[in-house]
Amino acid sequence: MSRPPRTIAIHKFGGTSLGDSSRIRNAARLLASARKKRPVVAVASAMGGVTDVLLEAARDAERGRLGLARKAVESLRARHAAAAGELGVRFDEAPLRELDAALQGVSLLRERTARVTDLVSSFGERLSAPLLAAALAKAGVPARAVDARDMLVTDDRHGAATCDRKRSDPRVRRRLRPLLSSGVLPVVTGFIARSLKGETTTLGRSGSDTTAALLGAALLAREVVIWTDVDGVLSADPRLVKGARLLPRLSYREAAEMTYFGAKVLHFPAVLPAIAAEIPLVIRNSFRPEIKGTTIAKKGDGGSGIRAVTAVPGMCLLSLDGRGMTGIPGIAARVFSATARLGVSVVMFSQASSEQNIALVIPEGDRARTVAALEQEFRWERLTGSIDAVNARAPIAVVAAVGEGMRGTPGIAAKVFAAVARAKVNVESIAQGSSECNISFAVAEEDRVAAVRALHKVVG
Ligand code: ADP
Ligand code: ASP
Ligand code: MG
Repeated sequence: MSRPPRTIAIHKFGGTSLGDSSRIRNAARLLASARKKRPVVAVASAMGGVTDVLLEAARDAERGRLGLARKAVESLRARHAAAAGELGVRFDEAPLRELDAALQGVSLLRERTARVTDLVSSFGERLSAPLLAAALAKAGVPARAVDARDMLVTDDRHGAATCDRKRSDPRVRRRLRPLLSSGVLPVVTGFIARSLKGETTTLGRSGSDTTAALLGAALLAREVVIWTDVDGVLSADPRLVKGARLLPRLSYREAAEMTYFGAKVLHFPAVLPAIAAEIPLVIRNSFRPEIKGTTIAKKGDGGSGIRAVTAVPGMCLLSLDGRGMTGIPGIAARVFSATARLGVSVVMFSQASSEQNIALVIPEGDRARTVAALEQEFRWERLTGSIDAVNARAPIAVVAAVGEGMRGTPGIAAKVFAAVARAKVNVESIAQGSSECNISFAVAEEDRVAAVRALHKVVG
């Protein structure tokens, strides 16, 4: 059966790519040029730094400092109004009144629920998308701002909601197709969505990438282009490693491993809808559009060895030790069922073959409740002395070496740990994914940068 032709392209602009009026004008130019080739849907993030300001305002309001929160809102009003003025377009202040009311509510109750936090943080995208649409119209491109909450339905895990594709995809098509067929370029708010109950939700920090991938999957797009402030996906975070190199092609699997283990350039959940619909994700630099960037697709570059190094800070290493653990069945399963009950994500897990030690790495913020749950789960074993106490060490970072070509290439692990040892970094715990597409290990947070730099020296 032949597949219908894929004509639409999704273009997402991150915060720095919409930082001020000249960046917005640049984004409008890139969109106008892309649209000459095929129908385009744009996705807008908040202007750079705006989401942080909103979250801080919500925290101020919670502490009863409404004056401070309102000052922040005023600074946002001034920033957006200035950009609109410079672009020669109208700025609609109505959303700011709703924001003020939400902050007043938080301040009055001195309570900031996850739900109201999502509402407050939604305003960045609700202000930026209309500005980009107006800039396009001004440049002669018919455009319309579209609120993603009219299309994307999620669960109610506020702060990190997951999209319900079955419900959302038809809505996306119903809302965007008529605009596209009448030659209008939709500019969709990134990051935000709505729960079944109708409350505003967000897809997690950096979630606009995921909005773009979700729209791409619903519309069976030809490509999803993510415009950012670096040339593409690099072999390491350029803020940590000066010689980080551009990776022109990555497989979905490599991109998933890299973003899961901390490569901030792409939101990890964005990879999933792209894989399912086989849509290439293209990461490009809006400051240097002449560079082709990184294409993430089914097949990477091939090649052997390590392609990239990543790191996730802010972790905690938990370990269960005890001579008596050998022979107690199902310890790992019990550990996992305890973390699953709490909804804590286990970033890394390893079990010594002697079965005398289990180590897991979780976010530092989940430390107290996870330790309590494990102590409860293994109270009998602790009482009888077969398991010693549950130990916790923090802050920890997980460092990962990623590359599809690592599979079947002998000596990679030796290379990785020799490099880390040369930098005199102590490795606390090791895990290798069964895909053999990554080797990850925990180090003390203070050793994170040294470990990443040392490991980058052996990237192939
Ligand atoms: P945007 O606002 O466009 O979404 P982000 O700040 O979310 O941009 O992501 C881009 C940033 O990701 C880069 O400026 C870079 O510092 C960081 N980064 C971390 N790891 C990598 C990597 N491996 N390759 C490229 N950029 C990375
Ligand atoms: N504005 C949101 C954030 O700062 C989402 C995004 O930029 O992708 O996290
Ligand atoms: Mg981002």
